[in-house]
Amino acid sequence: MDGKKLEFKGEEALRELERLTTNARELQEAILRDIISRNKETEYLRKYMMGAEDISEFKSMVPIVTYEHVQPYIERISNGEDSSIISGHPIVEMLRSSGTTRGKPRLMPSIAEDLVRRTYMYNLLMPIMSKYMPGLDKGKVMHLLFIKAETILPSGMPARSVLTSYYKSDHFRCREPDPFNNLTSPNEVILCPDSRQSMYCQLLSGLIHRHSVLRLGAVFASALLRSITFLEQNWRELANDIRLGQLNPSITDQACRSAMSHMLVSPNLTIADEIESICNNACWRGILVYLWPKVKCIEAVLTGTMAQYIPMLEFYSGGGIPLVCTMYASSESYFGVNLNPLCHPNDVSYTLLPNMAYLEFIELDNGLRCGDEEEVQKEKVVGLADVKVGKYYEIVVTTFAGLYRYRVGDVLQVTGFYNNAPQFKFICRRNVILSIDLDKTNEEDLHKSITVAKEILEKQNYLLTEYTSYADSSSVPGHYVLFWEIKLMSEKLESGKAQSLVHPELIESCCIAIEESLDYVYRRCRTNDRSVGPLEIRLLECGTFEALMDLLISQGSSINQYKTPRCVEPGPALDLLNSKVMGSFFSPKDPAWNAGL
Ligand code: AMP
Repeated sequence: MDGKKLEFKGEEALRELERLTTNARELQEAILRDIISRNKETEYLRKYMMGAEDISEFKSMVPIVTYEHVQPYIERISNGEDSSIISGHPIVEMLRSSGTTRGKPRLMPSIAEDLVRRTYMYNLLMPIMSKYMPGLDKGKVMHLLFIKAETILPSGMPARSVLTSYYKSDHFRCREPDPFNNLTSPNEVILCPDSRQSMYCQLLSGLIHRHSVLRLGAVFASALLRSITFLEQNWRELANDIRLGQLNPSITDQACRSAMSHMLVSPNLTIADEIESICNNACWRGILVYLWPKVKCIEAVLTGTMAQYIPMLEFYSGGGIPLVCTMYASSESYFGVNLNPLCHPNDVSYTLLPNMAYLEFIELDNGLRCGDEEEVQKEKVVGLADVKVGKYYEIVVTTFAGLYRYRVGDVLQVTGFYNNAPQFKFICRRNVILSIDLDKTNEEDLHKSITVAKEILEKQNYLLTEYTSYADSSSVPGHYVLFWEIKLMSEKLESGKAQSLVHPELIESCCIAIEESLDYVYRRCRTNDRSVGPLEIRLLECGTFEALMDLLISQGSSINQYKTPRCVEPGPALDLLNSKVMGSFFSPKDPAWNAGL
């Protein structure tokens, strides 16, 4: 780490950001030199660099790789071999990322000082926010934070999510009191492994402190929305606990009970009445500001695949307060911060910090293609300070913990520079998610085409609340299937009714609009080659995506890092979706296709 200082207050933090961004190129070179010098004796670097220590040799001799290449080393270490095969410092834990390879979770190596790096980045966030929102030290923060049970690998080291690692660490648990981060939730409820009990107690803590909460949020928007739905289902019990000054007996975790007993010291009829009268309102538009009247902003990742949740959060927040995306991070490394926190989530760019890891960028063509198998051309790879505004890149990371030129799989677009540090818009994850014939649809293609259909729905007062997809090749030709959950958008955000009231023509017009906005190859396959059949939309019963989340969490996904899969494969998830279908609609005609293209 460049300097061991972790905590920067106010102006000092902003000066630190100026220093980092101004010296981006030099700091990147220094970090790479440091990584090579610390790790040159590892089996991995010896294999490729044969003792060389030069930056240019690193770039010419060490290959750019995907997880498949790293997996054997990770498995050896997980099974007990010494971690010095990839890292000069002991690997203390494996971080379970939300990505999978052949159905298995990916494990990222982590060394003790990585926690220092993460803490360093977290400590920069509040000075940035305070620059735009004064007075954030005058109240509380209701951040809904969750851990996920960890597993112990044969080597004895834990495998857990990066956030679980952080919340369980002393950096979080034993943090100094900080007026900017005065959480409503006690550590014990955040650290409760039962996510239902944790969520209940965290909402209860937030409601008890409803008049002093200034910031409200979760790491990803999906967890925040999940908590709001939980509140819709449980507000009566929560208000009752406050009325009685007693915790609901369904909370059995002793640490939670004990922590909450300090908060529920006596009955509070006033707050209980207030909550009941607000939640009893049939329309929940703006509920977050009614329940937490001093809230100045809502924080959650709303970029990338989370962007679909922007309308729902705008609904629940009433649209009058900013939705703030503070940072961009992953299990491999934390990457960057949003220096303009008040901008709309659609416009967020993250400024990458040059002292977290060594970063390189693979330039992508306009179709954002650069498949796993393709050999990456050397001239397409540039350093952090050399990316070009407007271009798309895939991010490649080299860490102290033993990832060398590792393709993270995220596609970013450069929007500008802050001093000499590039700023990136998060575009999507690189992988192709749907393919029947020669067509290859990635998450962004799908998201873009769904956005067109969403507009059609919204004109008719329906909101698409969640979606996923499936490449159905059980019949010939195969076809794309989209699973949708929709809601009526009248004054009340009514659930349940939409699916039964909707006109088939409306969904069919969405089918064709989606097909028309998918790429040229798809439309050619569909219209000319007839190798892809008409796209199908299956409308689901209300609550299906929550059931899907429960299923995937029960199978090992983390609630904090949970993202709705944009594509499902045959198996329990697909079976669940199919069991909840209320209606199925097909594209009524061929999409327009320009044979001359
Ligand atoms: P995980 O490895 O499970 O921690 O997930 C990390 C991944 O989440 C990243 O590689 C991104 O794909 C996604 N992600 C993290 N932060 C953001 C963000 N601010 N905006 C969009 N996607 C993000």
